[in-house]
Amino acid sequence: MTIEDFAYDHPDRDVAAFKRAVANKLIYAVGKDPVAASPDDWLNATALAVRDQLVERWMTTTRANYAQDLKRVYYLSMEFLIGRTFTNALLAVDLYSTVQQALADFGVDMSALAEREPDAALGNGGLGRLAACFLDSMATLGVPGMGYGIRYEYGMFRQQIVNGQQVETPDYWLTRGNPWEFQRPEVNYRVRFGGHVQKREGPQAPYGAADWVDTHDVLAVAYDTIIPGYGTQATNTLRLWSARATEEIDLSAFNRGNYMQAVESKNHSENVSRVLYPDDSTPSGRELRLHQEYFFCSASVQDLLRRYLRNHTTFDQLADKVSIHLNDTHPVLAVPELMRLLLDQHGLDWDTAWGLTQKVFSYTNHTLMHEALETWPVEMMGRILPRHLQIIYDMNAKFLATVTEKAGNDVELLRRLSLVDEAGGRRVRMAYVAVLASHSINGVSGLHSELMKQSIFADFAKIFPERFNNKTNGVTPRRWLAQANPPLAALLDQRIGRGWRRDLMQLEALRPMAQQPPFVRAFRHAKRENKLRLANWVEQNMGVVIDTDAMFDVQVKRIHEYKRQLLNVLHVISRYQRIVAAHEAGEAIDLVPRVVVFAGKAASAYHMAKLVIRLINDVASVVNADARAGKLLKVVFLPNYSVSLAEIIMPAADLSEQISTAGTEASGTGNMKFALNGALTIGTLDGANVEMKENVGDDNIFIFGHTTPEVADIRAHGYEPRRYYDANPQLQRVLDAIRDGAFSPGEPARYQSIFDTLVNWGDQYLLLADYESYVDTQAKVDALYRDSDAWTRKAILNVAGMGAFSSDRTIAEYAHTIWHTKPVMLG
Ligand SMILES: *Cc1c(COP(=O)(O)O)cnc(C)c1O
Repeated sequence: MTIEDFAYDHPDRDVAAFKRAVANKLIYAVGKDPVAASPDDWLNATALAVRDQLVERWMTTTRANYAQDLKRVYYLSMEFLIGRTFTNALLAVDLYSTVQQALADFGVDMSALAEREPDAALGNGGLGRLAACFLDSMATLGVPGMGYGIRYEYGMFRQQIVNGQQVETPDYWLTRGNPWEFQRPEVNYRVRFGGHVQKREGPQAPYGAADWVDTHDVLAVAYDTIIPGYGTQATNTLRLWSARATEEIDLSAFNRGNYMQAVESKNHSENVSRVLYPDDSTPSGRELRLHQEYFFCSASVQDLLRRYLRNHTTFDQLADKVSIHLNDTHPVLAVPELMRLLLDQHGLDWDTAWGLTQKVFSYTNHTLMHEALETWPVEMMGRILPRHLQIIYDMNAKFLATVTEKAGNDVELLRRLSLVDEAGGRRVRMAYVAVLASHSINGVSGLHSELMKQSIFADFAKIFPERFNNKTNGVTPRRWLAQANPPLAALLDQRIGRGWRRDLMQLEALRPMAQQPPFVRAFRHAKRENKLRLANWVEQNMGVVIDTDAMFDVQVKRIHEYKRQLLNVLHVISRYQRIVAAHEAGEAIDLVPRVVVFAGKAASAYHMAKLVIRLINDVASVVNADARAGKLLKVVFLPNYSVSLAEIIMPAADLSEQISTAGTEASGTGNMKFALNGALTIGTLDGANVEMKENVGDDNIFIFGHTTPEVADIRAHGYEPRRYYDANPQLQRVLDAIRDGAFSPGEPARYQSIFDTLVNWGDQYLLLADYESYVDTQAKVDALYRDSDAWTRKAILNVAGMGAFSSDRTIAEYAHTIWHTKPVMLG
């Protein structure tokens, strides 16, 4: 049989056909009588009908990939922060209004359905969201590839704010089923843990081969999700692994009559894919995490080798057909896993296997902060992955031998370069394994990539200078403009056409329109609609009324000391104190009204971040209840920041707060989403803010604070935050109010530790050093906002300058200079 004479119903694309498709799905797939169908049943039925529209493209693309035997990219990431799929899929297949009409004919409101879809929140923040934007861009550009990750049963926790404090609740996102995925029970691999290694002896055993025996095994089962490209038939696959016990239950325990014990080990095995670690910047060091990392690396490498071997009988072409990209160090165990399979299973010699490995792997670094770099205790790795530890030792020995050959026996250098940190408890440095095994190591913004070469990888950059490069991050304009911001998208379509979705540089055409009053008005009108949408959300979900004439001043991102939400709070309190002081003195005050919006989750064990959340909420309570602040100042902390909430927040922002200490934020992508949606940025010269400034123009962004070299200088000369406290009476009043319980009258000492952190304990992130510059720059922000046309012109120029920050540009660079892939050709 050929595919041509295989008969099936091609899904039609008109309203009548779609109604029939949804009706069929509701009855035959969901199994619900339309009379009894709940909104979730309608959502599932509609999603299944939409998914049908993707399947044909998916199979066509997969077939073309095999037929053209193209090189594939495997993007390995512990996190994919996808958000909702429904609207994204509808826009990709260009069926938004068709489906809306079809559902309306059934009396069903599509936007209400779309809001019922749970976010796929299989990630913490920027790193996971980047992976999701990259999947979208790879599909759109036809880059043959696949994402590999873990199908966590529990995604990022849900955040509630109770009495001003973060409370975490589990996110069981699969409760109502997941209509987008295809379970592939037949695609499963055995992943081994523990046991020990036996050297293989005899003439058949090539150098270095070994047997790994007496292991505890877990099965990895594949779940596939279609990733549609936009404006193309091309699609890709996200393959997520779920853990299954190798034997359903322990039969011997069962036969002894101990049912509970029999199912216990099954549960234990399946814990591997149970829950996402909800911390984005401190490695947990816990054994379950190591199990998770190896679990998905092993399954993915076994899977991609099996796919390669379908078309090839030797490994000669592996590096021409396979590229494995490591999104941070979490998937680095794929390196010793590939080596193990090539050596122990496929009989390659070390040098051949190592040569292939170095050609196949590439690595993206996401942070320079020391406490964020992953290391694993040698003891733990030796116990859980004994063969991999051996391979890492062998890699290290050979590497250090070549260094010695070239540089002599420089003990200090060898200690610094070693894959194993010998200080204190011995630990494997995962970032060094990644650097040694990869032909390309990239940072995620120009500044970050430079700092990476000067700091954590300085010794490696001298040995392998050609490996280091920059790929500035980007965001997908499909989700972050077309989907999130319908009013602005419609305006752009009308004035510059629809092409910006696939070619974001077309936004340049907006530049002259910044001088056209009708366009300026239309742009402002779109912003107002978005502000109204957010104001409605806030009123409905939090019961707080906010004024859409006020400036929406927004900082939304993970709560972390280096991101300096606290600096923002200091400014808010200073404004509040000015309002109160003017009121007491009976003076009029001429302040620009602001609504200061915060959102973001704190890692559950990060005490200081949680205290900052509480402070924000306490400040909000005091300020919002004070009639003197009235329309001039409101503070809101929106609970449960997520991709779908970001889609409502970003388009509504006037001012985007990107205020990390210079040198700490690798890139940021929130900064890009805001500017793309017409917010002005107040920010430090950190991460991609530097390049945003170059692209939108120095006059259209508010830059403040110390630069990276200045920060280093201050630290080198012994930073004394108390000097700033003593020298600035306004700053002193703000900090004293926090210390003395002005925002926690029932518990005056609640924020003593925040005061101490800043004033007495070294202020690690230099908030006090940047305070004055920040507050002065906020005054300039106010001044501009008073001139609404001038403000809007700059906002337009921001949008016009954001073309370079499409993840399509980023992915084109990866494909061209790292992966060396060619796009799939579709008939
Ligand atoms: C974009 C995004 C982030 C990253 O934001 P940064 O400001 O770059 O830290 C985090 N979480 C969500 C939900 C996002 O959409």
